[in-house]
Amino acid sequence: MAALDDATRGRVLFGGDYNPEQWPEESWPQDVRLMKKARVNSVTLGVFSWARLEPRPGARDFGWLDRLMDLMAENGIGVVLATPTASPPPWMGSRHPETLPRDEDGRTVWWGSRQQFCPSSPVYRAYAAALTEDLAARYGGHPALRMWHINNEYCTHCWCDETARHFRDWLRARHGGLDALNESWGTAFWSQRYDSWDEIIPPRRAQYLRNPGHTLDFRRFTSDALLECYAAERDIV
Ligand SMILES: [Zn+2]
Repeated sequence: MAALDDATRGRVLFGGDYNPEQWPEESWPQDVRLMKKARVNSVTLGVFSWARLEPRPGARDFGWLDRLMDLMAENGIGVVLATPTASPPPWMGSRHPETLPRDEDGRTVWWGSRQQFCPSSPVYRAYAAALTEDLAARYGGHPALRMWHINNEYCTHCWCDETARHFRDWLRARHGGLDALNESWGTAFWSQRYDSWDEIIPPRRAQYLRNPGHTLDFRRFTSDALLECYAAERDIV
Protein backbone atom coordinates (compact mmCIF):
# COMPACT_ATOMS: atom_id res chain seq x y z
CA MET A 1 0.00 0.00 0.00
CA ALA A 2 2.69 2.46 1.02
CA ALA A 3 4.81 1.60 -1.99
CA LEU A 4 1.90 2.20 -4.32
CA ASP A 5 1.04 5.54 -2.74
CA ASP A 6 4.65 6.66 -3.01
CA ALA A 7 4.77 5.58 -6.63
CA THR A 8 1.69 7.48 -7.73
CA ARG A 9 1.19 10.36 -5.29
CA GLY A 10 1.36 13.75 -6.94
CA ARG A 11 2.23 12.27 -10.32
CA VAL A 12 0.41 12.24 -13.61
CA LEU A 13 -1.15 8.83 -14.14
CA PHE A 14 0.59 7.24 -17.11
CA GLY A 15 -0.48 4.00 -18.77
CA GLY A 16 -3.40 2.56 -20.70
CA ASP A 17 -5.73 -0.36 -21.17
CA TYR A 18 -4.28 -3.71 -20.15
CA ASN A 19 -6.14 -6.90 -21.13
CA PRO A 20 -3.86 -9.74 -20.01
CA GLU A 21 -6.78 -12.13 -19.66
CA GLN A 22 -6.30 -12.44 -23.43
CA TRP A 23 -2.86 -14.06 -23.20
CA PRO A 24 -1.04 -16.63 -21.00
CA GLU A 25 -0.55 -15.72 -17.36
CA GLU A 26 3.12 -16.75 -17.61
CA SER A 27 3.80 -13.55 -19.55
CA TRP A 28 2.39 -11.23 -16.86
CA PRO A 29 5.73 -10.79 -15.04
CA GLN A 30 7.35 -9.69 -18.29
CA ASP A 31 4.49 -7.25 -18.90
CA VAL A 32 5.11 -5.73 -15.49
CA ARG A 33 8.86 -5.54 -16.06
CA LEU A 34 8.31 -3.65 -19.33
CA MET A 35 5.70 -1.39 -17.72
CA LYS A 36 8.16 -0.40 -15.00
CA LYS A 37 10.85 0.20 -17.60
CA ALA A 38 8.42 2.54 -19.42
CA ARG A 39 7.43 4.15 -16.08
CA VAL A 40 3.81 3.10 -16.45
CA ASN A 41 2.06 3.75 -13.14
CA SER A 42 -1.58 3.11 -14.10
CA VAL A 43 -3.45 0.42 -16.05
CA THR A 44 -7.13 -0.07 -16.84
CA LEU A 45 -8.25 -3.64 -16.21
CA GLY A 46 -11.33 -5.66 -16.95
CA VAL A 47 -13.11 -3.60 -19.61
CA PHE A 48 -14.02 -6.72 -21.61
CA SER A 49 -13.81 -9.40 -18.95
CA TRP A 50 -17.48 -10.16 -18.30
CA ALA A 51 -17.37 -13.61 -19.92
CA ARG A 52 -14.22 -14.43 -17.94
CA LEU A 53 -15.58 -13.15 -14.62
CA GLU A 54 -19.05 -14.70 -15.09
CA PRO A 55 -18.56 -17.69 -17.41
CA ARG A 56 -22.19 -18.75 -16.90
CA PRO A 57 -25.15 -16.99 -15.28
CA GLY A 58 -24.42 -16.20 -11.65
CA ALA A 59 -21.01 -17.96 -11.60
CA ARG A 60 -17.95 -16.01 -10.50
CA ASP A 61 -14.27 -16.48 -11.43
CA PHE A 62 -12.26 -13.85 -9.61
CA GLY A 63 -9.04 -15.82 -9.06
CA TRP A 64 -7.18 -14.46 -12.08
CA LEU A 65 -8.20 -10.89 -11.25
CA ASP A 66 -7.14 -11.36 -7.62
CA ARG A 67 -3.68 -12.39 -8.81
CA LEU A 68 -3.54 -9.51 -11.28
CA MET A 69 -4.60 -6.87 -8.75
CA ASP A 70 -2.04 -8.18 -6.25
CA LEU A 71 0.67 -8.17 -8.93
CA MET A 72 -0.07 -4.54 -9.75
CA ALA A 73 -0.04 -3.51 -6.07
CA GLU A 74 3.25 -5.32 -5.45
CA ASN A 75 4.83 -3.41 -8.32
CA GLY A 76 3.48 0.04 -7.54
CA ILE A 77 1.12 0.18 -10.50
CA GLY A 78 -2.34 1.58 -9.83
CA VAL A 79 -5.46 0.05 -11.34
CA VAL A 80 -8.44 1.72 -12.98
CA LEU A 81 -10.88 -1.14 -12.59
CA ALA A 82 -13.68 -1.45 -15.11
CA THR A 83 -17.16 -2.77 -14.73
CA PRO A 84 -17.22 -5.12 -17.75
CA THR A 85 -20.80 -4.38 -18.70
CA ALA A 86 -20.16 -3.02 -22.21
CA SER A 87 -19.89 -6.51 -23.65
CA PRO A 88 -22.23 -9.16 -22.27
CA PRO A 89 -21.18 -12.81 -22.70
CA PRO A 90 -22.85 -14.93 -25.37
CA TRP A 91 -24.92 -16.72 -22.70
CA MET A 92 -26.79 -13.48 -22.06
CA GLY A 93 -28.22 -13.14 -25.55
CA SER A 94 -28.63 -16.87 -25.91
CA ARG A 95 -30.64 -17.31 -22.71
CA HIS A 96 -32.23 -13.87 -22.66
CA PRO A 97 -32.83 -12.77 -26.27
CA GLU A 98 -34.79 -9.76 -25.00
CA THR A 99 -31.48 -8.23 -23.87
CA LEU A 100 -30.30 -8.05 -27.49
CA PRO A 101 -30.91 -4.76 -29.33
CA ARG A 102 -33.32 -4.53 -32.26
CA ASP A 103 -32.41 -2.17 -35.06
CA GLU A 104 -34.75 0.26 -36.82
CA ASP A 105 -36.13 -2.59 -38.94
CA GLY A 106 -36.78 -4.80 -35.91
CA ARG A 107 -33.87 -7.07 -36.75
CA THR A 108 -31.92 -8.59 -33.88
CA VAL A 109 -28.39 -7.33 -33.28
CA TRP A 110 -26.60 -10.54 -32.31
CA TRP A 111 -23.61 -11.28 -30.11
CA GLY A 112 -20.23 -11.82 -31.76
CA SER A 113 -18.84 -8.32 -31.41
CA ARG A 114 -19.56 -6.03 -28.43
CA GLN A 115 -22.13 -3.50 -27.18
CA GLN A 116 -24.98 -5.95 -27.88
CA PHE A 117 -27.28 -4.91 -25.07
CA CYS A 118 -30.57 -3.07 -24.85
CA PRO A 119 -30.14 -0.23 -22.33
CA SER A 120 -33.82 -0.51 -21.38
CA SER A 121 -33.67 -4.24 -20.63
CA PRO A 122 -34.38 -4.99 -16.94
CA VAL A 123 -32.65 -8.37 -17.34
CA TYR A 124 -29.44 -6.81 -18.68
CA ARG A 125 -29.54 -4.19 -15.93
CA ALA A 126 -30.03 -6.80 -13.21
CA TYR A 127 -27.06 -8.90 -14.35
CA ALA A 128 -24.90 -5.77 -14.74
CA ALA A 129 -25.80 -4.56 -11.26
CA ALA A 130 -25.15 -7.95 -9.64
CA LEU A 131 -21.67 -8.26 -11.12
CA THR A 132 -20.86 -4.63 -10.32
CA GLU A 133 -21.89 -5.22 -6.70
CA ASP A 134 -19.60 -8.22 -6.43
CA LEU A 135 -16.68 -6.38 -8.03
CA ALA A 136 -17.14 -3.40 -5.71
CA ALA A 137 -17.36 -5.63 -2.64
CA ARG A 138 -14.26 -7.60 -3.61
CA TYR A 139 -11.94 -4.85 -4.88
CA GLY A 140 -13.29 -1.60 -3.44
CA GLY A 141 -10.66 -1.68 -0.71
CA HIS A 142 -7.82 -3.26 -2.69
CA PRO A 143 -4.53 -1.34 -2.41
CA ALA A 144 -4.05 -1.35 -6.20
CA LEU A 145 -7.41 0.34 -6.91
CA ARG A 146 -7.08 3.95 -8.05
CA MET A 147 -10.52 4.58 -9.56
CA TRP A 148 -13.45 2.92 -11.29
CA HIS A 149 -14.12 2.80 -15.03
CA ILE A 150 -17.86 2.36 -15.60
CA ASN A 151 -18.90 0.36 -18.67
CA ASN A 152 -17.14 1.52 -21.85
CA GLU A 153 -18.02 3.89 -24.69
CA TYR A 154 -21.79 3.90 -24.19
CA CYS A 155 -23.16 3.89 -27.74
CA THR A 156 -25.74 1.13 -28.16
CA HIS A 157 -29.19 1.95 -29.52
CA CYS A 158 -32.34 -0.12 -29.49
CA TRP A 159 -35.78 0.12 -31.09
CA CYS A 160 -37.43 -2.88 -29.37
CA ASP A 161 -40.80 -3.14 -27.62
CA GLU A 162 -39.23 -2.83 -24.15
CA THR A 163 -37.57 0.35 -25.37
CA ALA A 164 -40.97 1.54 -26.63
CA ARG A 165 -42.44 1.17 -23.12
CA HIS A 166 -39.47 2.97 -21.58
CA PHE A 167 -39.65 5.71 -24.24
CA ARG A 168 -43.36 6.32 -23.46
CA ASP A 169 -42.56 6.74 -19.74
CA TRP A 170 -39.83 9.22 -20.66
CA LEU A 171 -42.22 11.11 -22.95
CA ARG A 172 -44.91 11.32 -20.25
CA ALA A 173 -42.37 12.86 -17.90
CA ARG A 174 -41.14 15.26 -20.57
CA HIS A 175 -44.41 16.41 -22.12
CA GLY A 176 -47.02 15.64 -19.47
CA GLY A 177 -49.89 14.91 -21.82
CA LEU A 178 -50.49 13.83 -25.39
CA ASP A 179 -51.76 17.28 -26.41
CA ALA A 180 -48.41 18.81 -25.43
CA LEU A 181 -46.54 16.02 -27.22
CA ASN A 182 -48.58 16.47 -30.39
CA GLU A 183 -47.96 20.20 -30.25
CA SER A 184 -44.23 19.77 -29.66
CA TRP A 185 -43.78 17.28 -32.49
CA GLY A 186 -46.01 19.16 -34.91
CA THR A 187 -48.02 16.04 -35.60
CA ALA A 188 -50.76 17.97 -37.40
CA PHE A 189 -48.40 17.62 -40.37
CA TRP A 190 -49.04 14.51 -42.52
CA SER A 191 -51.78 13.19 -40.24
CA GLN A 192 -49.40 12.07 -37.51
CA ARG A 193 -51.51 13.00 -34.47
CA TYR A 194 -51.29 10.47 -31.59
CA ASP A 195 -54.50 9.59 -29.77
CA SER A 196 -53.05 7.03 -27.32
CA TRP A 197 -49.65 6.49 -25.69
CA ASP A 198 -49.66 2.94 -27.00
CA GLU A 199 -49.51 4.29 -30.55
CA ILE A 200 -46.11 5.82 -29.90
CA ILE A 201 -43.17 3.65 -30.91
CA PRO A 202 -39.45 4.30 -31.35
CA PRO A 203 -38.79 5.94 -34.74
CA ARG A 204 -38.55 2.72 -36.75
CA ARG A 205 -38.18 2.52 -40.50
CA ALA A 206 -40.98 4.49 -42.12
CA GLN A 207 -42.21 5.01 -45.64
CA TYR A 208 -40.75 8.48 -46.07
CA LEU A 209 -39.17 11.26 -43.99
CA ARG A 210 -39.67 10.74 -40.27
CA ASN A 211 -40.94 13.37 -37.85
CA PRO A 212 -37.86 15.32 -36.64
CA GLY A 213 -39.42 16.04 -33.22
CA HIS A 214 -39.98 12.32 -32.71
CA THR A 215 -36.44 11.36 -33.76
CA LEU A 216 -34.86 14.15 -31.69
CA ASP A 217 -36.78 13.10 -28.58
CA PHE A 218 -35.73 9.49 -29.20
CA ARG A 219 -32.08 10.53 -29.29
CA ARG A 220 -32.53 12.44 -26.05
CA PHE A 221 -34.31 9.45 -24.52
CA THR A 222 -31.56 7.03 -25.60
CA SER A 223 -28.93 9.29 -24.04
CA ASP A 224 -30.93 9.33 -20.79
CA ALA A 225 -31.43 5.56 -20.86
CA LEU A 226 -27.67 5.02 -21.14
CA LEU A 227 -27.13 7.61 -18.41
CA GLU A 228 -29.45 5.58 -16.15
CA CYS A 229 -27.29 2.50 -16.78
CA TYR A 230 -24.18 4.49 -15.93
CA ALA A 231 -25.66 6.06 -12.79
CA ALA A 232 -26.84 2.68 -11.48
CA GLU A 233 -23.31 1.24 -11.65
CA ARG A 234 -21.70 4.42 -10.37
CA ASP A 235 -24.00 4.40 -7.34
CA ILE A 236 -23.04 0.79 -6.59
CA VAL A 237 -19.29 1.36 -6.63
ZN1 LIG B 1 -34.34 -2.99 -26.54
